[in-house]
Amino acid sequence: MKRNLHGARAIVTGASSGIGRETALELARHGVGLILVARREDRLREVTDRIAAVGGTVEAVVGDVTDRAVRQQAIDAAREKLGGLDILVNNAGVGAMGLFVDADPERVRRLMEVNFFALVEMTRLALPLLQQGNRPIVVNVSSILGHRGVPYSSEYSASKSAVQGFSESIRAEFTKLGIDVLVVSPGTTETEFFDRVIERTADPKWPEHRPVSAAEVARQVVRAIRKGKHEIIPYRWGRVLCRLNRFSPRLVDYLMTRYV
Ligand code: NDP
Repeated sequence: MKRNLHGARAIVTGASSGIGRETALELARHGVGLILVARREDRLREVTDRIAAVGGTVEAVVGDVTDRAVRQQAIDAAREKLGGLDILVNNAGVGAMGLFVDADPERVRRLMEVNFFALVEMTRLALPLLQQGNRPIVVNVSSILGHRGVPYSSEYSASKSAVQGFSESIRAEFTKLGIDVLVVSPGTTETEFFDRVIERTADPKWPEHRPVSAAEVARQVVRAIRKGKHEIIPYRWGRVLCRLNRFSPRLVDYLMTRYV
């Protein structure tokens, strides 16, 4: 379903930095009214101030997406300040780095809370508003690790595979509700993500790849929303890995063991 974004209404979670921040700015450039969610108030205010300075409609909701009250606040803000909701961008996410054998058991719980459960519950809460929206769409930010698990990121890969499976299922179900579902699977992107992992016990020695900028990912996300795409992988090596894994998962298994 193609859409004209001017006058559309969106919630973007994790909008204080990286892909979420750039997606919010890009949506604002297209005339979208915004509710932005994240925990770091100063960073969130920098984004809302920038959008408001050029006449955009924007409101900050400061808090943790794993908190039900914060999710409800975002939905209430969309209803009251924007008059409804057309686009939900579930972008907030965290990572962890290291072998499973060394991991604190709490690590998987926190990753699933932020990356998966909060995204699921945000979607559930947004459904009534989205159903009344104009060409509504849910955008779930996953990862190429949602297509293919890799060592040193077992719990993160699992959380993003869960996002992938959930999104594919609801995409079919939501057809009847008139709601699109787009899955964005970034590869290595230049953001604060790797400096802010919740636990780091070891770093993998992946071959050097040039990261994509968050602004470029955001441009591709907004283009995909406009064109009504179902899936994008805004990273060349990510597309190569996914294709190789479909063609020969055993070969990718073998290649992965070389990095442990
Ligand atoms: P950043 O660390 O720059 O951004 C993450 C955003 O999520 C921040 O705005 C952060 O805000 C927010 N966030 C994290 N935890 C919570 C929480 N509990 N409640 C509310 N907000 C939260 O990283 P990216 O921009 O790279 O990450 C965005 C998405 O992209 C994530 O889902 C990530 O998994 C995915 N991704 C990133 C890749 C990369 O290479 N960078 C690769 C593949 C996927 P605050 O801390 O202020 O709350």
